Amino acid sequence: MIPVLGYENRKVAVLGLGRSGLATARALREGNAIPVVWDDNAEARARAEAEGFTPQELSKDAAWEDVAVLILSPGIPHLYPSPNKYVAKAWELGVPVDNDISLFFGSFATTEWDEFDTTPRIVAVTGSNGKSTTSALIHHVLTHVKRPTQLAGNIGRGVLDIEPAIDGEVVVLELSSYQTDLARNLTPDVAVFTNLSPDHLDRHAGLGGYFAAKRRLFSEGGPDRAVIGVDENEGRYLANQLGTGLADDRVIRISTETKLAGKGWNVFARKGFLSEYRKGRQAGSIDLRKIEGLPGAHNHQNACAAYAVCRTLGLAPRVIEAAFQTFGGLPHRSQMIANKNGIRFVNDSKATNVDSAACALAAFDNIRWICGGLEKEGGLDGLKPHFGRVKKAYVIGRDAAKFALGLEGVELEICETMNVAVARAAAEAEQGDTVLLAPAAASFDQYDSFETRGDDFVANVEALG
Ligand code: ADP
Repeated sequence: MIPVLGYENRKVAVLGLGRSGLATARALREGNAIPVVWDDNAEARARAEAEGFTPQELSKDAAWEDVAVLILSPGIPHLYPSPNKYVAKAWELGVPVDNDISLFFGSFATTEWDEFDTTPRIVAVTGSNGKSTTSALIHHVLTHVKRPTQLAGNIGRGVLDIEPAIDGEVVVLELSSYQTDLARNLTPDVAVFTNLSPDHLDRHAGLGGYFAAKRRLFSEGGPDRAVIGVDENEGRYLANQLGTGLADDRVIRISTETKLAGKGWNVFARKGFLSEYRKGRQAGSIDLRKIEGLPGAHNHQNACAAYAVCRTLGLAPRVIEAAFQTFGGLPHRSQMIANKNGIRFVNDSKATNVDSAACALAAFDNIRWICGGLEKEGGLDGLKPHFGRVKKAYVIGRDAAKFALGLEGVELEICETMNVAVARAAAEAEQGDTVLLAPAAASFDQYDSFETRGDDFVANVEALG
């Protein structure tokens, strides 16, 4: 745990008592602050009470007396579509609103670091897609080379829940736009922007607000190094703004679309080969095609980002390559489940929107595609360029027939449930085919999460024998 510094004997309100909220309350207590906790959900309050915290309803003015700051969980709207009522109250009373990420940045460094040979560093990863994979891949490479490292943030472990740093440690944080939007302290040593596509637009009042939220990671103190995906205008704008010119190697540009030329520090992947150029000279290359844990151009983008970060940390190209070879991928993201008689089974249950499903389809050929679920706004048109790779679609979901209307031109079968879809796809698959779960839809019509949906797919594949 990282004890929170700077609030000794002062009251700090914590709103939202999920994983990160509880970790925050604990870290405040450890730092001798006085946490004032609340969650509208009674079960969450009960969990906090079991740990010795006393929930206090924040709608009463008395609860706010002497509160120094309100710490908000990422799931609670702080501005759009409308501010949570307690946030509005904090504004009215002049109480600053902040989050756990900010407390972390304000509390991580300690005087013990004066004794260290190598100062600990923080790498923060943001972007619309690939954050988890990129963060996990950086963490994997560092683990592989036996460099002390911890992984936290949006990826599963609250940032204040990690252990205090040891000599030479690298902390890798996955940060969502909700987190970067609100944090007052945001000072990573290395920051990554993978890519941008429309998402969470209601929470940011449109694409501009969404990009502005991500951009804060680079503007609130300025990392020593920025790794920027330049395949969209927003990335090109950001890279341009952060440096004095192409030769300014505080910025590393990455791409999977363009052979990046010029005098800058560039990492790009084309046709399965990753290349690094620095000051006009090739500095490294990796054949990514044989790396099973990183299939498809989207994962090659993640590989470029992770590679660039590892280079800024002083690792050699060959060392990074050897570590990539043993990356198993993350569950539910283009995850290879099995190879049965030359038929591959791939779980990409995390493809909950059209954009990520399109990436998954682009990564494979001869696809028997399990898709469908709770359709998102915007239709399925973005998938059309990849329909040529699909041999047949097996449509699941409560509204499978309606979903199928968007798949014009694709041979398909309405299966509705996962067990029917897996059984039918497996029965019809031939050697060289890939049975791919990439739903292009949310899971909530039939499951409580994309993880449960992916687990159901895996269980059905395993049951095939
Ligand atoms: P995030 O943490 O940003 O949601 P993940 O690594 O969890 O990213 O991947 C989310 C989904 O997007 C998965 O379906 C995955 O296959 C796909 N994906 C992963 N990396 C990328 C990328 N660089 N570009 C587009 N889609 C990606």
